[in-house]
Amino acid sequence: MDYDVVIVGGGHAGCEAASACARLGVDTLLITQREADLARMSCNPAIGGLAKGHLVKELDALGGIMGWVADRSSIQSRMLNRSKGPAVWSPRVQCDRELYTEGMRRLLGDTSGLDILEDEVADISLSNGAVNGVVTIQSGTINARKVVLCGGTFWNGVIYIGEWQKPAGRIGEDPAVGISDRLEKLGLRRIRLKTGTPPRLDGNTINFNMLERQDGEEEPIWFSSDPPVESLPQRPCFLTYTNEETHDILQGGLDRSPLYTGRIKGVGPRYCPSIEDKIVRFADKNRHQLFIEPEGLQEEEYYINGFATSLPEDVQLKALRTVPGLSDVKMNRPGYAVEYDVFPAEQLSLSLECRIINNLYLAGQINGTSGYEEAAVQGFIAGINAARSILGNDQIVLGRDQAYIGVLIEDLITKIPEEPYRMFTSRAEFRLLLRQDNARQRLLDVAQKIGLVSTRKQQSTKESIDNKDRIIKGLKSTSVLYNGVRMKSAELLKRPEIKLTDLVNFTDFPGEQREFIKIHSQSAFHAEVEIKYNGYLVRQQAQVESFRKMEQLLLPVVMDYESISALSAEARCELNRIRPETLGQASRIPGVRAADVSVLMVLLKKGW
Ligand SMILES: Cc1cc2nc3c(=O)[nH]c(=O)nc-3n(C[C@H](O)[C@H](O)[C@H](O)COP(=O)(O)OP(=O)(O)OC[C@H]3O[C@@H](n4cnc5c(N)ncnc54)[C@H](O)[C@@H]3O)c2cc1C
Repeated sequence: MDYDVVIVGGGHAGCEAASACARLGVDTLLITQREADLARMSCNPAIGGLAKGHLVKELDALGGIMGWVADRSSIQSRMLNRSKGPAVWSPRVQCDRELYTEGMRRLLGDTSGLDILEDEVADISLSNGAVNGVVTIQSGTINARKVVLCGGTFWNGVIYIGEWQKPAGRIGEDPAVGISDRLEKLGLRRIRLKTGTPPRLDGNTINFNMLERQDGEEEPIWFSSDPPVESLPQRPCFLTYTNEETHDILQGGLDRSPLYTGRIKGVGPRYCPSIEDKIVRFADKNRHQLFIEPEGLQEEEYYINGFATSLPEDVQLKALRTVPGLSDVKMNRPGYAVEYDVFPAEQLSLSLECRIINNLYLAGQINGTSGYEEAAVQGFIAGINAARSILGNDQIVLGRDQAYIGVLIEDLITKIPEEPYRMFTSRAEFRLLLRQDNARQRLLDVAQKIGLVSTRKQQSTKESIDNKDRIIKGLKSTSVLYNGVRMKSAELLKRPEIKLTDLVNFTDFPGEQREFIKIHSQSAFHAEVEIKYNGYLVRQQAQVESFRKMEQLLLPVVMDYESISALSAEARCELNRIRPETLGQASRIPGVRAADVSVLMVLLKKGW
């Protein structure tokens, strides 16, 4: 068997990588342990959320598939953070878990140029320091010009519930062994990280009358620019709280917890602690919020968001039964923790190609992230870059000033992984410009270059930009009477209490403009944001310009920073470890100070 690209692992990263490669026209094989588990959501069945929603919108704007599939399995959608500025609004959809996996299987199955093989990759084959294939357990060697590894939580995965532990990638699924050990032998640095999931509850045993009901938006929120004609029936989520009795029971189980007895060595995400971690770290809090979320349309199973745990099963159940609404609850499956291998991403270049082994790309959880969306965007970038290098095209690297995807990949490569990395809006320094609503417009050029977005969609994005400009021009050139004073519409719109929807209803607002704004509501929203936040946006744009100047200063590829005595010892060590590609990237490495950046700048000026 010969392929251009072989993708290993059909999780969120692998599915995006496989779809992108095949659609770019290279012969692609996706190898995964169980085809029925393609794009399986290991934890809660929800896509998007704070900052993650931005990633999905960007992925959709570039031609990725996660948003398209999520829209077609959405059973509740919400725009989070609406009470704050539009830069941090984030869409989130609750999905039907099985419909999501089914939808992804169907989409990949219908993709021409893509084969799917159910098997396990145990090794890679090499020639002259470059990968040239993979070795599978059942089918033997498969030749490939490029290999993309997306192993998720499966490489030497071990799951824990109280005193019980078992090698597994997820509960009920075997781990993948062999490949991770081989990469380490080839010189890649490996660490252990951990994550956890809550119990799943039988909905027939929950007293919903005791819970606070939370419905989604009346109008569905879509990720994709090509949403379904009709939405699925919508389901509510529910809210409840732990209490002091719950905390006492959890506390009593700590001596049997693999986290607190030291059996789990891998570090978990601080921002998403297990319930036992919460009661220890926030001991002064007498309650914690829990969201009870449906797993699907047909299912009577519920996910309890906020109660990730690896305590013994009996402690989990006893603690849950103290929570209002859950006094008679039945647990379908207990929560558990999983510990797995990670290859810190400093060993990759910004295209996600491995620096030590040519033609090898790594993406997803194995690079130190946590989250479906974080994995998917990496899979997409690794996939298109593997395909582009076969097609003789340059690599796509997104900047921090262009996309959250750029922020994520650069952070992974530049910072030491201390815990699983997840995206937050606060990580993006140019977040006023990188909004979820303008992803298609700001990434249009890159999408054109990649070539996975149809000409029709590109055209419609161009039209939306023209429409926005036309609306802004109209608002700047017309005026209305407000409190007896005639004012330019654009000036009036800058006032926080005036919304564009109010302004268009002023009796003297020009009728033609009103109609145009009503028809092009999305462009009108962009126009409104640009007018209201103009001062901030102009300032941020200026920061982007100076940022870009630093990014254009490329550092030589091979160099020994140890020989530059003017650099601090810490900077020499970190620069040698990470080998930044630009002066800008060097300046963001922890341990590289302003004085070190000046030294590098002087060397560059001298023609280094
Ligand atoms: C218990 C648990 C709890 C989690 N909790 C959260 C959470 O709270 N929040 C959050 O955002 N994320 C959470 N995650 C993480 C989330 O599931 C992952 O970030 C995401 O699924 C990673 O996607 P991926 O594509 O990298 O890998 P995965 O989704 O893990 O998929 C990897 C796929 O590759 C296959 N595979 C692996 N190795 C091989 C091989 N050698 N040969 C063939 N096939 C192979 C596996 O069978 C699997 O199908 C959790 C994960 C687990 C397991």
